[in-house]
Amino acid sequence: MSQTVAPPPPRSVPLDAAALEASLRRHLRGEVRFDTGSRAVYATDGSNYRQVPIGVVIPRDKEDVLATVALCRDHRAPLLARGGGTSLAGQCCNAAVILDFSKYMAGILEIDPERRIARVEPGVVLDNLRAAAEKHHLTFAPDPATTTAARSAA
Ligand SMILES: Cc1cc2nc3c(=O)[nH]c(=O)nc-3n(C[C@H](O)[C@H](O)[C@H](O)COP(=O)(O)OP(=O)(O)OC[C@H]3O[C@@H](n4cnc5c(N)ncnc54)[C@H](O)[C@@H]3O)c2cc1C
Repeated sequence: MSQTVAPPPPRSVPLDAAALEASLRRHLRGEVRFDTGSRAVYATDGSNYRQVPIGVVIPRDKEDVLATVALCRDHRAPLLARGGGTSLAGQCCNAAVILDFSKYMAGILEIDPERRIARVEPGVVLDNLRAAAEKHHLTFAPDPATTTAARSAA
Protein backbone atom coordinates (compact mmCIF):
# COMPACT_ATOMS: atom_id res chain seq x y z
CA MET A 1 0.00 0.00 0.00
CA SER A 2 1.20 3.51 -0.82
CA GLN A 3 2.77 5.50 2.00
CA THR A 4 1.98 8.85 0.33
CA VAL A 5 -0.06 11.00 2.69
CA ALA A 6 -2.81 12.81 0.81
CA PRO A 7 -5.14 15.25 2.53
CA PRO A 8 -8.21 13.41 3.87
CA PRO A 9 -11.66 14.32 2.52
CA PRO A 10 -13.37 17.28 4.18
CA ARG A 11 -15.32 16.53 7.35
CA SER A 12 -18.60 17.47 5.65
CA VAL A 13 -18.43 14.31 3.48
CA PRO A 14 -20.44 11.58 5.24
CA LEU A 15 -18.64 8.32 5.98
CA ASP A 16 -19.20 5.61 3.37
CA ALA A 17 -18.86 2.55 5.61
CA ALA A 18 -19.41 0.10 2.75
CA ALA A 19 -16.56 1.66 0.76
CA LEU A 20 -14.30 1.59 3.81
CA GLU A 21 -15.15 -2.07 4.44
CA ALA A 22 -14.40 -2.94 0.80
CA SER A 23 -11.02 -1.14 0.96
CA LEU A 24 -10.10 -2.87 4.21
CA ARG A 25 -11.00 -6.26 2.76
CA ARG A 26 -8.84 -5.56 -0.30
CA HIS A 27 -5.74 -4.58 1.68
CA LEU A 28 -5.78 -6.64 4.89
CA ARG A 29 -4.78 -10.21 5.66
CA GLY A 30 -6.72 -10.09 8.93
CA GLU A 31 -10.43 -10.14 9.61
CA VAL A 32 -12.81 -7.35 8.64
CA ARG A 33 -16.17 -7.59 10.35
CA PHE A 34 -18.81 -4.99 9.53
CA ASP A 35 -21.85 -7.26 10.00
CA THR A 36 -24.54 -6.37 12.52
CA GLY A 37 -23.73 -9.26 14.86
CA SER A 38 -20.05 -8.42 15.19
CA ARG A 39 -20.82 -4.75 15.67
CA ALA A 40 -23.27 -5.65 18.44
CA VAL A 41 -20.67 -7.80 20.21
CA TYR A 42 -18.17 -4.94 20.19
CA ALA A 43 -20.73 -2.30 21.25
CA THR A 44 -19.67 -2.49 24.87
CA ASP A 45 -16.75 -3.13 27.20
CA GLY A 46 -16.62 -3.64 30.96
CA SER A 47 -18.71 -0.49 31.44
CA ASN A 48 -22.42 0.28 31.17
CA TYR A 49 -21.92 2.23 27.96
CA ARG A 50 -23.22 1.07 24.57
CA GLN A 51 -21.92 2.51 21.30
CA VAL A 52 -22.31 0.51 18.10
CA PRO A 53 -19.01 0.63 16.19
CA ILE A 54 -18.66 1.30 12.46
CA GLY A 55 -16.96 -2.05 12.11
CA VAL A 56 -14.25 -4.28 13.53
CA VAL A 57 -10.76 -5.07 12.25
CA ILE A 58 -8.79 -7.97 13.71
CA PRO A 59 -5.28 -7.37 12.36
CA ARG A 60 -2.90 -10.23 11.61
CA ASP A 61 0.21 -8.11 11.85
CA LYS A 62 1.76 -4.65 11.91
CA GLU A 63 1.16 -4.14 8.18
CA ASP A 64 -2.58 -4.66 8.74
CA VAL A 65 -2.51 -2.02 11.48
CA LEU A 66 -0.69 0.49 9.26
CA ALA A 67 -3.12 -0.15 6.40
CA THR A 68 -6.12 0.24 8.71
CA VAL A 69 -4.86 3.55 10.06
CA ALA A 70 -4.20 4.84 6.53
CA LEU A 71 -7.57 3.73 5.16
CA CYS A 72 -9.51 5.08 8.14
CA ARG A 73 -7.72 8.35 7.69
CA ASP A 74 -8.61 8.42 3.99
CA HIS A 75 -12.26 7.76 4.85
CA ARG A 76 -12.20 10.05 7.90
CA ALA A 77 -13.32 7.18 10.12
CA PRO A 78 -12.42 7.32 13.83
CA LEU A 79 -10.31 4.46 15.17
CA LEU A 80 -10.31 2.77 18.57
CA ALA A 81 -7.80 0.20 19.83
CA ARG A 82 -9.07 -2.66 21.98
CA GLY A 83 -7.20 -5.10 24.20
CA GLY A 84 -9.21 -7.16 26.68
CA GLY A 85 -12.17 -4.76 26.62
CA THR A 86 -12.33 -4.74 30.43
CA SER A 87 -12.19 -0.97 30.89
CA LEU A 88 -14.88 0.38 33.15
CA ALA A 89 -15.63 3.89 31.87
CA GLY A 90 -16.57 3.33 28.23
CA GLN A 91 -13.02 3.84 26.92
CA CYS A 92 -13.34 0.83 24.68
CA CYS A 93 -16.65 1.36 22.91
CA ASN A 94 -17.44 4.12 20.44
CA ALA A 95 -18.81 4.84 16.98
CA ALA A 96 -15.44 4.00 15.48
CA VAL A 97 -13.56 1.26 13.68
CA ILE A 98 -12.40 -1.09 16.44
CA LEU A 99 -8.89 -2.54 16.13
CA ASP A 100 -8.97 -5.72 18.20
CA PHE A 101 -5.43 -6.88 19.03
CA SER A 102 -6.43 -9.80 21.22
CA LYS A 103 -6.65 -12.56 18.59
CA TYR A 104 -3.53 -12.47 16.42
CA MET A 105 -1.28 -9.82 17.96
CA ALA A 106 -0.81 -11.09 21.49
CA GLY A 107 2.72 -12.44 21.39
CA ILE A 108 5.83 -11.78 23.46
CA LEU A 109 8.61 -10.88 21.05
CA GLU A 110 11.56 -10.61 23.39
CA ILE A 111 12.49 -10.33 27.05
CA ASP A 112 15.90 -8.87 27.73
CA PRO A 113 16.62 -9.45 31.43
CA GLU A 114 19.86 -7.48 31.31
CA ARG A 115 18.17 -4.31 30.13
CA ARG A 116 14.88 -5.21 31.87
CA ILE A 117 12.99 -4.63 28.67
CA ALA A 118 10.16 -6.63 27.12
CA ARG A 119 9.03 -6.23 23.54
CA VAL A 120 5.46 -7.41 23.09
CA GLU A 121 2.60 -7.16 20.66
CA PRO A 122 -0.18 -4.82 21.79
CA GLY A 123 -2.65 -7.60 22.64
CA VAL A 124 -0.42 -9.58 24.98
CA VAL A 125 -2.27 -10.76 28.10
CA LEU A 126 -0.77 -9.23 31.23
CA ASP A 127 -0.51 -12.57 33.05
CA ASN A 128 1.32 -14.15 30.10
CA LEU A 129 3.89 -11.36 30.12
CA ARG A 130 4.28 -11.67 33.86
CA ALA A 131 4.75 -15.44 33.69
CA ALA A 132 7.49 -15.03 31.07
CA ALA A 133 9.16 -12.22 33.04
CA GLU A 134 8.97 -14.23 36.25
CA LYS A 135 11.43 -16.77 34.79
CA HIS A 136 14.00 -13.98 35.01
CA HIS A 137 12.77 -12.87 38.46
CA LEU A 138 11.19 -9.80 36.90
CA THR A 139 7.62 -8.58 36.67
CA PHE A 140 5.54 -5.96 34.88
CA ALA A 141 4.16 -3.45 37.34
CA PRO A 142 0.52 -2.64 36.46
CA ASP A 143 -1.68 -4.71 38.75
CA PRO A 144 -5.40 -4.49 37.91
CA ALA A 145 -7.73 -7.23 39.17
CA THR A 146 -8.15 -8.37 35.55
CA THR A 147 -4.63 -9.65 34.85
CA THR A 148 -5.96 -12.83 33.19
CA ALA A 149 -7.74 -10.80 30.52
CA ALA A 150 -6.31 -7.29 30.46
CA ARG A 151 -3.64 -6.50 27.90
CA SER A 152 -0.37 -5.03 29.00
CA ALA A 153 -0.68 -2.22 26.44
CA ALA A 154 -3.81 -0.82 28.06
C1 LIG B 1 -13.82 -6.74 37.45
C2 LIG B 1 -12.83 -5.68 37.04
C3 LIG B 1 -11.82 -5.31 37.92
C4 LIG B 1 -10.89 -4.30 37.57
N1 LIG B 1 -9.92 -3.97 38.47
C5 LIG B 1 -9.04 -3.01 38.14
C6 LIG B 1 -8.00 -2.67 39.06
O1 LIG B 1 -7.88 -3.24 40.14
N2 LIG B 1 -7.13 -1.68 38.71
C7 LIG B 1 -7.25 -1.03 37.50
O2 LIG B 1 -6.44 -0.13 37.23
N3 LIG B 1 -8.20 -1.35 36.61
C8 LIG B 1 -9.10 -2.32 36.90
N4 LIG B 1 -10.06 -2.65 36.00
C9 LIG B 1 -10.12 -1.94 34.71
C10 LIG B 1 -9.42 -2.68 33.55
O3 LIG B 1 -9.47 -4.07 33.69
C11 LIG B 1 -7.97 -2.27 33.46
O4 LIG B 1 -7.88 -0.85 33.30
C12 LIG B 1 -7.21 -2.97 32.33
O5 LIG B 1 -5.83 -2.61 32.40
C13 LIG B 1 -7.72 -2.64 30.95
O6 LIG B 1 -7.03 -3.47 30.04
P1 LIG B 1 -7.73 -3.98 28.69
O7 LIG B 1 -6.72 -4.72 27.89
O8 LIG B 1 -9.01 -4.71 28.97
O9 LIG B 1 -8.05 -2.58 28.00
P2 LIG B 1 -9.28 -2.13 27.06
O10 LIG B 1 -10.51 -2.10 27.87
O11 LIG B 1 -9.30 -3.08 25.86
O12 LIG B 1 -8.77 -0.73 26.64
C14 LIG B 1 -8.59 0.31 27.60
C15 LIG B 1 -8.16 1.60 26.88
O13 LIG B 1 -6.87 1.42 26.28
C16 LIG B 1 -6.92 1.64 24.88
N5 LIG B 1 -6.08 0.66 24.22
C17 LIG B 1 -6.19 -0.69 24.25
N6 LIG B 1 -5.20 -1.26 23.54
C18 LIG B 1 -4.46 -0.24 23.03
C19 LIG B 1 -3.32 -0.18 22.19
N7 LIG B 1 -2.73 -1.28 21.74
N8 LIG B 1 -2.84 1.02 21.85
C20 LIG B 1 -3.44 2.16 22.29
N9 LIG B 1 -4.52 2.17 23.11
C21 LIG B 1 -5.02 0.98 23.46
C22 LIG B 1 -8.41 1.46 24.52
O14 LIG B 1 -8.73 2.19 23.35
C23 LIG B 1 -9.10 2.01 25.73
O15 LIG B 1 -9.15 3.42 25.69
C24 LIG B 1 -10.99 -3.65 36.32
C25 LIG B 1 -12.01 -4.04 35.42
C26 LIG B 1 -12.92 -5.04 35.78
C27 LIG B 1 -13.98 -5.44 34.79
